[in-house]
Amino acid sequence: MRLFTVFSACAAVFLACSTNSVNPKDTETIILISVDGFRWDYTQKANTPNLDYLIEHGVRAESLIPCFPTKTFPNHYSIVTGLYPENHGIVANNMYDPLRDKYFGLSNSEAIHDPVWWGGEPVWVTAEKQNIRAASYFWPGTSTRIQGKLPSYWYEYNGSVANETRVEQLLRWLDLPGDKRPGFLTSYFSILDDAGHDFDPESPEVVVAIETIDQLLGILLDGLRQRGCLDSVNVIIVSDHGMAPISRDRVIFLDDYIRLSAVQVVDWDPLAAINPAPGKEDSVYAALVNAHPHMQVYRKQEMPARFHYSKHERIPAIIAIAAEGWSISSHDYYLGRESRFDGGTHGYDNGLQSMGGLFVAHGPAFKTGFVMPSLSNIHLYELMTHILGINPAPNDGSLDSVRVALKSPPPVSFR
Ligand SMILES: [Zn+2]
Repeated sequence: MRLFTVFSACAAVFLACSTNSVNPKDTETIILISVDGFRWDYTQKANTPNLDYLIEHGVRAESLIPCFPTKTFPNHYSIVTGLYPENHGIVANNMYDPLRDKYFGLSNSEAIHDPVWWGGEPVWVTAEKQNIRAASYFWPGTSTRIQGKLPSYWYEYNGSVANETRVEQLLRWLDLPGDKRPGFLTSYFSILDDAGHDFDPESPEVVVAIETIDQLLGILLDGLRQRGCLDSVNVIIVSDHGMAPISRDRVIFLDDYIRLSAVQVVDWDPLAAINPAPGKEDSVYAALVNAHPHMQVYRKQEMPARFHYSKHERIPAIIAIAAEGWSISSHDYYLGRESRFDGGTHGYDNGLQSMGGLFVAHGPAFKTGFVMPSLSNIHLYELMTHILGINPAPNDGSLDSVRVALKSPPPVSFR
């Protein structure tokens, strides 16, 4: 999904300062930036001097492997919790919770702000609990009171806020004195995902967006240089997923095989989340399982283990996954939207190379000029809590999986 929808007017909310926050050291400070939809190989497609600088003087992974499904909210929340979606509960951008009979969607402000959807412990909550201030100029979940906590500084999501404004605020937060200064800072840019969806990921528009992102990173790096802390704070650039080209000639219509009135389709494309009406599960599954050569269909309990996508009650009874480059729709929806199903999308099997994202890290915690193998994004929570010097909450990742990136890794654990 290219954007989380604008919920309300931009409003900064600065909470009252607690008295026991610590003054974080530069070397234990992290700036985490998400560039939505930055595919692992985009650095080769455009002129990116600032990203190149970070790579040359820091660490790059061959790719950042997203969780399944390769969608925006599930993966942003896996990056900051170290949990698979089946364990943190944000199992899709659009969800139905059968226990509460409630829906979640990116334009549903009430649901977004309801902590009941957000399981696990995001790194900003772990930090605030351990007296490190967190600051976010947008990240999914940062406007929700998870475990009763918000970052010390945060903004309600508003996609129209200029990207430069977001970067400049990160720098202003670093200028805060003493115990007001945050040790964990995040921001988020959506323009590259927009370009990847609207145009082919190989298009010139994507190249322009990559270069625009690089210029934003340049503002950040220049600001850090001016403050003398480019080499003393840690900057981590990630993305939530990659992008694959799609076509109106490659669309699978569910209503060719089942009556849509017999099912609840919670999410459509390119992963259809299907809850059949009571008593219809077997017949719906039988109608779909071998229906189309470019669609894999699973019962929830039969999902391949590598997807880690079967445990949570919000995962529907039947999951249909389009093959790379294919879309899933209905005839009515398709006919009414002539501009859809061309361009690019994501949400496919997370083992596909095209779904791989970006991981670049620079700063005192990281090696210099080091390229590491592809890395699953669930390990980043352990990495970040290690750098922040705080105790991680239980999670699915391991520091051992990412220790190769560290300049001074701790001894290997034998858990
Ligand atoms: Zn995304």
